[in-house]
Amino acid sequence: MLVLLDRDGVINHDRPDSIKNPDEFIMIDGSAKAVARLNAARHQVALVTNQSIIGRGTIDGSMLDRIHEKMTAALAREGAFIDRIYVCPDAPWEATERRKPGPGMLFEALSDFSASAAQTPFVGDSITDMQAAMKAGCPRILVRTGKGADVQASGKLNDVLPVKIHEDLADAITVLLGDSA
Ligand SMILES: [Mg+2]
Repeated sequence: MLVLLDRDGVINHDRPDSIKNPDEFIMIDGSAKAVARLNAARHQVALVTNQSIIGRGTIDGSMLDRIHEKMTAALAREGAFIDRIYVCPDAPWEATERRKPGPGMLFEALSDFSASAAQTPFVGDSITDMQAAMKAGCPRILVRTGKGADVQASGKLNDVLPVKIHEDLADAITVLLGDSA
């Protein structure tokens, strides 16, 4: 199985002003171990992340690489790795279909991994994650970390049902692995 994960608010703590450097990238407790459990079960894991901070000119691609080096190191300490990272740098005012809620990056991942959408869950914390997953035909899982609890309370999920809701990535992966066993 391929599992698609959002980054900010799922793997690491989100910030209202975005993650601008490695110091601001702080892992959510248990997220690395959760990815390690997917790896150990031989599932593939891809990250699907909007980083309009690049399109806005706040950081460049080399800074994003440094941030992701910190993430990769934090994952590796728990024996975890991510198979591929999809980044959309688009600013909101020049968004392509790759920028969530567009499904472009999800379609790229499904194609690259030869995965079927219906078998490829997307785990995210934003309504735009759920919208992108619905457009791509992927099962939707909302975590209550990041923006997730607010999204759950907002009523916006009514347009993207069914959505499974879990406390955090660790809980979501426990249930996913149980379901697929
Ligand atoms: Mg997020």
